[in-house]
Amino acid sequence: MGRLLRSTDPATGEEVGSVQEAGPSQVRDAVEAARAAQADWREVPVQERVALLARFRALLLAEADRVAELVTRESGKPLAESLMADLLPALDQARFLEKRGPALLRPRGFRLRNPLVADRTSEVHHEPLGVVGVVSPWNYPLSIPASAVLPALFAGNGVVVKPSPLTPLVAERLVSLLWQAGVPRDMLWIVHGGAATGKALVEADVDGVLFTGSVATGKAVAATCAGRLTPAMLELGGKDPMLVLDDAPLDLAVRGGVWGAFTNAGQTCASVERALVDTTLHDRFLAGVGEGARSLRLGHGLDPGTDMGPLIDDGAVKRVRQQVRQAEKAGATVEAGGAVREELGPRFWAPTVLSGIDADMAPSLAVMQEETFGPVLPVQAVPDEERAVAEANRTEFGLSASVWTGDVARGRAVARRIRAGTVTINDCIYTYGATETPWVGWGDSGLGVSHGPWGLAEVLRLRHVNVARPGRARSPWYYPYDQDLGRLLREGLPFLYGGARGKRKVAKVLAAWRRRT
Ligand code: NAD
Repeated sequence: MGRLLRSTDPATGEEVGSVQEAGPSQVRDAVEAARAAQADWREVPVQERVALLARFRALLLAEADRVAELVTRESGKPLAESLMADLLPALDQARFLEKRGPALLRPRGFRLRNPLVADRTSEVHHEPLGVVGVVSPWNYPLSIPASAVLPALFAGNGVVVKPSPLTPLVAERLVSLLWQAGVPRDMLWIVHGGAATGKALVEADVDGVLFTGSVATGKAVAATCAGRLTPAMLELGGKDPMLVLDDAPLDLAVRGGVWGAFTNAGQTCASVERALVDTTLHDRFLAGVGEGARSLRLGHGLDPGTDMGPLIDDGAVKRVRQQVRQAEKAGATVEAGGAVREELGPRFWAPTVLSGIDADMAPSLAVMQEETFGPVLPVQAVPDEERAVAEANRTEFGLSASVWTGDVARGRAVARRIRAGTVTINDCIYTYGATETPWVGWGDSGLGVSHGPWGLAEVLRLRHVNVARPGRARSPWYYPYDQDLGRLLREGLPFLYGGARGKRKVAKVLAAWRRRT
């Protein structure tokens, strides 16, 4: 029996429930069992897998309130966010695969353009990787593991999922709903624990890893996978900027900034972590976000009046406090928040807005360089668009960014200059919930893609099958080399590839030569 892992409500410290931790040998056993079962699962017709996802969707819908409540109790976020940002993307992911998945898995055939092999055909088949290990974080405890587990299963893989030790019960619910929907138990395993269990899974005999978490852990996972050439998809942290240009719709930018910085108490990989605001709008923007921050209602996520819940644990409070204090010492001003709301509990950090940060200070401030992962919005004035782009690209991260402007064409042009996997114009964060779009981190923010056709491709490998009919299979490049063919090719190449007129004629001559030999 493994150790008992207790899940607690971050708002109150009360126990929500507990699970058994898995040791390394249990992890290896799960991978082995999934591998044995996967041989049958990959043969299950795609339409049956579609039906299974539809049943999963119906079961999750029937339990939506209870699951959302569990998300809130384990992670602390308001119930509305549990519904919007956990339930909805999980349902959307299932439906995307039901609708678009069968076509994406279908083999694709095509004729070849090379005239020497024009009588051959090629097919590309999509094969599952085998057994996929999923390692997920706590901040979106349903939608993140669902975004990995659903495509992996749909593609025909066995799956072993290791959720965050802070939110094990939501992941348990996800897995048991999938079992209920008809996924064979041996195909889908859940193993609980912290770093040691995650490490054991990555080191086990898996054929692919879908990891979501911090940069430091992601790099450790990538290093282990590199040793065995195991494909690893990594979705990591960010330091995402919002660029408020001089023609920005100010009210919209203020509301977007407040939501983008403080949703899920700032504990979102793509949350707005820095505002770079044109000098002409800076003071009004600062006043707006300061007022917005002060107006948010903090409390337990299950209370319908709550806008923002607590931080996940004491370590998170410590990190946020250190970053804010360092900025203050360097000369930044706390416009709102800046401390724990002790009357609510030790983890309720008040939504914080910092001002007075300039380009000289920014490089040395953790709050401008490192992921804060808490409810802090530092605001930096920038003189023009050029400077905004330069400041946006200053960190090693590249997850998302937002550009706020009245001119969409200008927004697009700025977007092209930002080093980030997602750039939204006049909105922020939300595209994780639009699951047909790619979710991709550049630089330190990750490797590979999740969501949409691209996410499905991460859990597949390609097999190219090339067909030559037996009666016509003589390959012109076989020995002995033929002088006629050499001459034909030399004379024909400019027509075939050089744009000279007569391509069809040359192809015909080549075909005639092939029939002769
Ligand atoms: P974390 O890196 O501490 O943990 C993530 C998962 O990895 C957990 O399940 C953990 O137990 C496991 N783990 C820890 N050490 C491991 C090891 N050596 N080998 C294998 N697994 C190991 O991250 P967290 O605190 O749970 O989540 C917050 C981080 O996740 C933030 O940096 C956030 O930006 C990032 N995140 C990114 C995305 C994205 O899509 N890009 C989404 C959500 C969260």
